[in-house]
Order: sequence, then structure tokens, then C-alpha cells
Amino acid sequence: MAFDIDMIKGVYTKMAERVDKARDIVGKPLTLSEKILYSHLWDGNPTKAFVRGKDYVDFAPDRIACQDATAQMALLQFMQAGKSKVAVPTTVHCDHLIQAKEGAVTDLKHANSVSSEVFNFLESVSNKYGIGFWKPGAGIIHQVVLENYAFPGGMMIGTDSHTVNAGGLGMVAIGVGGADAVDVMAGMAWELKFPKLIGVRLTGKLSGWTAPKDVILKVAEILTVKGGTGAIVEYFGPGATSMSCTGKGTICNMGAEIGATTSTFGYDDSMERYLRATDRADIADAANSVKEHLTADAEVYANPEQYFDQVIDINLSELGPLLNGPFTPDLSTEVGSAMTEKAKANDWPIKVEWGLIGSCTNSSYEDLSRASSIAQQALDKGVKMKAELGINPGSEQVRYTAERDGILDVFEKLDAKIFTNACGPCIGQWARYSDPKNAPKNSIVHSFNRNFAKRADGNPNTHAFVASPELTAAIAVAGRLDFNPLTDKLINENGEEVMFDEPTGWELPPKGFDVKDNGYLAPEADGSHVQVSVKDDSERLQLLTPFVPLGDSITGAKLLIKAFGKCTTDHISMAGPWLRFRGHLDNIANNTLIGAVNAFNQKTNFVKNQLTGDYGGVPDVQRAYKKAGIKTIVVGDHNYGEGSSREHAAMQPRHLGVAAVIVKSFARIHETNLKKQGMLGLTFANEADYDLIQEDDTFNFTDLNAFAPGKQLTIEAVHSDGSKDVIKVNHTYNQSQIDWYNEGSALNLIKKQNAV
Ligand code: SF4
Repeated sequence: MAFDIDMIKGVYTKMAERVDKARDIVGKPLTLSEKILYSHLWDGNPTKAFVRGKDYVDFAPDRIACQDATAQMALLQFMQAGKSKVAVPTTVHCDHLIQAKEGAVTDLKHANSVSSEVFNFLESVSNKYGIGFWKPGAGIIHQVVLENYAFPGGMMIGTDSHTVNAGGLGMVAIGVGGADAVDVMAGMAWELKFPKLIGVRLTGKLSGWTAPKDVILKVAEILTVKGGTGAIVEYFGPGATSMSCTGKGTICNMGAEIGATTSTFGYDDSMERYLRATDRADIADAANSVKEHLTADAEVYANPEQYFDQVIDINLSELGPLLNGPFTPDLSTEVGSAMTEKAKANDWPIKVEWGLIGSCTNSSYEDLSRASSIAQQALDKGVKMKAELGINPGSEQVRYTAERDGILDVFEKLDAKIFTNACGPCIGQWARYSDPKNAPKNSIVHSFNRNFAKRADGNPNTHAFVASPELTAAIAVAGRLDFNPLTDKLINENGEEVMFDEPTGWELPPKGFDVKDNGYLAPEADGSHVQVSVKDDSERLQLLTPFVPLGDSITGAKLLIKAFGKCTTDHISMAGPWLRFRGHLDNIANNTLIGAVNAFNQKTNFVKNQLTGDYGGVPDVQRAYKKAGIKTIVVGDHNYGEGSSREHAAMQPRHLGVAAVIVKSFARIHETNLKKQGMLGLTFANEADYDLIQEDDTFNFTDLNAFAPGKQLTIEAVHSDGSKDVIKVNHTYNQSQIDWYNEGSALNLIKKQNAV
């Protein structure tokens, strides 16, 4: 059994106890989000009401899920924690490292060959530490999680931003960095700022060409890519209960595109149907017994303005099919003439070259069946497909069932390519061009979530538009961006005018789901004998060695770089081709800060080596200091480290010998990541002191031996002419975090505590 019903029943027992207490303490009816948050407090029963958007709270998630690209460093770190097993049920899913090129069979074989080292590593670590392992081809992490692990009222974290997909089954599911996941795997609490709450009231009913995807495309238009930041979006109302569970998953999935912490729906009949269809009747029974805790109190949805920080209304009966893009998921256009005008005004290519159906957002059985109803009509009405069409089923269970039911056959008859059950083009794993940088301007339509430049095929000139699977199929057949399937006619092979009827489909397979080998490998009960081997000369994987404590005296440290302006985690540790080295700290460290702008010359990756006076790339100069045994300092501007929660942005500088990062302000997650890696993350007490830092500076920490919570530190910046500035810096380390620093890293401390 993939899930643990006793664990879920335990969660429901706790909910029953804690929700009433939380309601008393908060002093008003509770939203679903609050019920889940308050019943997952690390300290047990709620004792105080938390301030939304302000208080940091420790939580105890029920599950963890990791995908293959992020799991590498997460598991390499976990191996350092000295634990024999993960403390919380965890799964690893191999889905990102599989390229879409020829078709599923050939592509999977190729991935298993070129990434075998990584897959074998993930499999053996999973087996050793009690982690469920989903093989390459088993499916996309979030579809597999929805089918097997998500449960109403649960809390999970995952090392992928679309972990939020599980909100479709009533969870609070949140994407995190690997370091956070490692903490929870090792039995520690997980900290989150208590989110604000946005309520979305859905009235009316979807019909015809309008799909759940259009709901989130509309929400993205209303809230924009930043509008959900720091908030949980809770959907409710008659429109919500009228949608399928996987449709709800689509909506929650793209909550990541509006920056939301997560999104969720209250437990309803569609979730019960989905649980029973996916062989989890016992969870449905357990959920039914605590139904009142798995949705908000009635008063909340009756008067949402009193209980949410913001309320949005959408009438599904008035919503039409939308196309969002290009280059941003919040730019909405209605199908048809509005698109004709916009495309003309903006010079977007009207001709569509490809339609792509899949990704964790839209790869369910229902999605494929509705899109195939359009493909079937094209066959029946004698219309040839003008664009190319690619399909990535969400899981082997979906693929096997869709094949059995003739759905895939319909696509294939229309010459569509069935790619592996994996992310494929959604993460740029699409071998569309041999030279993407010089590829021509073109338009594509897909049912994915993200459509940033270069995301799918590496071509900066590809204009990607996001749509529902059924609209994607129709546009692929028509080959035009401004095709409106509600009004426009197509000419068939006999020269006749034909029109599409509305799409139809099955919420769930009428003959039930089936699968021969779902691709799951359960870990051994006792994996202690399992050997995890990593080759010494591997370029993709490297076992970690514990970081050495920096000590209570740092003197003679050199300035590595004074970063100018925006310095995100992408500037500190780039993605793209560097993804390949996510499991090899020393190799990926060769991209450290190469995107940061040097404040002294406004160039990237061009800093002074104070030992020679020469200029060079940041990693090279830093390695020279490391070789000479000299610690370094990075100086930065406001919101340093914003962007992703990737721990590489802290681990790489730490690995190369950077001791402290001193900035005007930090993005909070990056600041925490620096602390976890045993570094100093400090802020100028006087922001203007940033201007005092000069290119040839040497730094002495004068009172680091008195490092204590709430106490400023003092740094002497010695300039090349011998003059000095004394700089006061603030920090937010509590005593436990100072202990991390003293031990060299949070993991070192966990290991030490574990050894006692
Ligand atoms: Fe991420 Fe796309 Fe894979 Fe979903 S399908 S997990 S969005 S890469």
C-alpha cells in the first residue's frame, strides 16, 4: 500500500481535538486553511492565535515529496544527518530528467541511459532510508501524489513549487527548498510565516468549452503573477463543488503562477469519488467521518469578506475559454477576435506550430479524454491537424488506462506523439531544435503552467500560450492562435466546412483505473545494509563532507564581490544547463554568483583578485582565496537571495569558503538557508554603510566571540590605504541558529544530537 491509513486516521483524530481549540483561541469561525494549519502545529494543541502575514510558526507536515532534480542535493544532505530512516513518509519521483524527442519508449530508454547514475543513486538512497521511489516513467510527481498520497485535511511539503497541486484533494501542500525538506525528514519542525488568506467564491457551472484551467487563467489575470504572494487561496462555493477533483488540482497547481503559498478546496463529493476511483476507499470513509473539519465553518463561506483578507468572485457560467501568454501566465486573452487583434498589435505569430498536452497541471484521465474528444471529431469530420501535437500523460496509471480505453489511439491516429509520463517539454526537456538560440520566431499552445521565454524549447523566440487541454487540441488542429472553436469553421479534406462540437469527456474512467506496473518501488523495511555508491570521478554526484565551523574569530577576510542591485538565487546559482550538476556541489559551485553585477565595474562574473590584482570570474577568484586559506565576504543590496528556495545558493558560497554575506536586506528563505549552512547572514545596521565598502577591503570581525541573539556584531573594514571604517551589523539568529553556526551547519548539529 502506497499510503498509510493509520497515519491519516491519526491526523483526523488530531483535527477533531485541535480545530475546536483553535476556534476558541482565534475567537471566530475558521476557514479550511486555518483548520489544517492549526491542526498541524509542531507544538501540538493550539495555544495562541497567529497573526496572518506576520508570525513565523513551526509546523509538522504529514508527508514529503521530492522530484529527481531537487532530490539529489536534498538526499545528499539527509545522508549527513546521521539518521537511519526518514522521520516523515517521503517519496522520490523521477520525472524531470527525461527528454521528449522521439516518443515514450525511445526517450525513456535514452534517459535511463544518460541519467542512470542519478536514478540509481536516488533509488539506492531511497531504499536505504525508507523512502518510496517512483521510477523514471512512473509519472509526474504531482499527478502521482494526487493519485496515491494526497488526502483531505493533510499537510505536505515538496521540493517543487507545484507541490501545491495536492490542494485539489483538500490538502495544504507547499513547495519548499531541499534544506527545509531535509529538516523534516530528519525529524525537525518546518517553519512558515502564517499565511494571509484569499477566498475565491465560485458560482455558476462550467460548461461547453470552459474548463477548470480557465478558472485559474482568470484568477491569474485578476491577481497577476505576484498577487497571491504569502497567501493561501481557498476556493469555495457551488462552482467549486461542481468541478472534478483533478480539475481542482489544475486550479491549485497554477496557484504557483500567482505566487501563492498554496491553494486548496474543501472536501466534497468529487474528492470522495476520486479517492474511491484511485483505490483509497478507506481514506474516503475516514474523511467522511470528519467531514465538518475538512471544509470551512459554514459562517465563513456565508460571509467570506469577514474571514478572508481578500475575496474574489468568479461566475463559472459567464467564464469563456482563455489563452494566457506569451511569456507570462497572467496575460489573458479570450479566444477568437480578441486574440486576432492582440496578436496583430504585438506581432505574435498567428500560425501555431505545436500543441502540447500534459505537465502536472493538465495530464489527468479527464484532461486526456476531453482533448481526445476533439481529436476524434477531427478524425470523424475529416480535418487534418495543421500543427504538431505532443502528449505527456501524467502517470503510468493514467497512460495505461487511457491506452486501454482507446484514448491514446485517437491521438496517434491524428499523428500526435505520445511522450513519456514525465515533465518533458514543461521543464525544457524537449529536443525540438539542435540550436535553440537561433531558432525562428513561432507560436505554440500548451496546457502547462509556465510559459516564460525559453522554458519549453530553449528558443527565446517561441511564443508559448497556456490553455486548457481541449482548447490546445482544437488550436493544434486548426493551426491558428485566434481559432475560436465556438464560432469558427474549418475546411475538411473534402473541401467542406465543418465545426467542432463541444468537448466531452469522463471525469473518471468508466471501467475504472488500471495499471500493470505503476513504477513504484517500496523501500526495504530495514535498508541499513544498502550500500549507496557514488563514483569518485562522477561529474553529476558528489557525496557531501560536513562543513567545518567558521569559528568565533574571522580576521583578514577579503571582499569577494559587492553585488549591485537585484541579486536573486538565479544570480547566485543559475539554473538552465547547470541543472545537470545539482547533485555535485563542487561542479555546480562553478556557477557561484556568476550572474551578480559587480558594483565596482557593473560587470557580471568579473571581480578583483586582491592577491594578484587581476580580474577574473567569481568562482575562480574565490577558489584562489580558498587555496590560500583566506575567508571571504559577499556584500549585497536589498532583498538579496530572492527567488527560489534552492539551498544551492547558500551551499555553494559556503563550500567555496565565503564566511559571511552582508546586505541591506535579505529574502527570508535565503537568509535561513545561509544560517542552516553555518554561515553568517548579516544586515547593515546603517544601510548607507554599503557605500563604505571598497574593492580592496579586508574585514575583521571584532566581537564574534560574543555572538548572541539580538546583539549587534562589529566589523572593521580595512581599506587599501590603511584607513578603517567600523561597521555595525544586525542579525536575526536565535540561540538554536547560533548553535548551527557554532557546529558548522544545522545538519552537523542534528548529527551530533543523533549520536548522543
Ligand atoms: Fe514542474 Fe512542469 Fe514537471 Fe510540473 S510538469 S513538476 S511544472 S516541470
